[in-house]
Amino acid sequence: MRKKIVAGNWKMNTLKDDALKLASEVVNMAKDETPSDVTVIMGVPFIHLSGVKSLVGNASNVFVAAQNCYFEPKGAFTGEISAPMLKSFGVDYVILGHSERREYFKETHEELAKKVDAVLANGMAPIFCVGEVLSEREAGKQKEVVSKQLEESLYHLSAEDFKKVVIAYEPVWAIGTGKTASSDQAQEMHKDIRDMLASKYGQEVADEISILYGGSAKPTNAPELFANADVDGGLIGGASLASRDFIDITKSY
Ligand code: 13P
Repeated sequence: MRKKIVAGNWKMNTLKDDALKLASEVVNMAKDETPSDVTVIMGVPFIHLSGVKSLVGNASNVFVAAQNCYFEPKGAFTGEISAPMLKSFGVDYVILGHSERREYFKETHEELAKKVDAVLANGMAPIFCVGEVLSEREAGKQKEVVSKQLEESLYHLSAEDFKKVVIAYEPVWAIGTGKTASSDQAQEMHKDIRDMLASKYGQEVADEISILYGGSAKPTNAPELFANADVDGGLIGGASLASRDFIDITKSY
């Protein structure tokens, strides 16, 4: 059975005190309210990883993610953070290939493939983001775009490694816009992605991969989105910054 996952992507938000307050609320509420079969992840800015990890402690259903990492393990790369560094702070997941990083920081398929390798080699799991921009959706090219993103950055992996990856489908036109993909649009794309994975790695592997939806997900639309057979959870931006909303989303299955 694949995992149900609700992951927050805080992006570049929260000062020190806000971050610690938010994280401690999430940890406490997740313990009391989140169903035990749902994995809760907080994707926090690098600078808060240590503090948030201390608050998470050994909670059984809450994990910590970074939002990026560099592919080299160490050395003269001023300003970068490596996968071994993240691992040494007890980080469990690393969000990679978010559309904001692809767009603003010009991350390429090739670089992302190396980052995926670094994360896996250090015993963490990538949350790998894919998704089309509006013009690609309007041209009916969403499947082609996502297929290429998967192929170029993930298909070099062995089936054994691939099984550790979490996929997040985030249609770029739905991110931070208040425009969610409809439940049918989400299911259609998630099913397409699972079929792509099945043709590369076989149905058994494809059935084990959690595919999360991201893009203006909130407590009001999460139940409908998560009710779809191929939507295994969400990667939540804005709504992950409010503990009540975020925890409510974890209860939306
Ligand atoms: P919003 O939920 O704010 O639309 O952001 C989605 C996202 O980019 C998560 O990675």
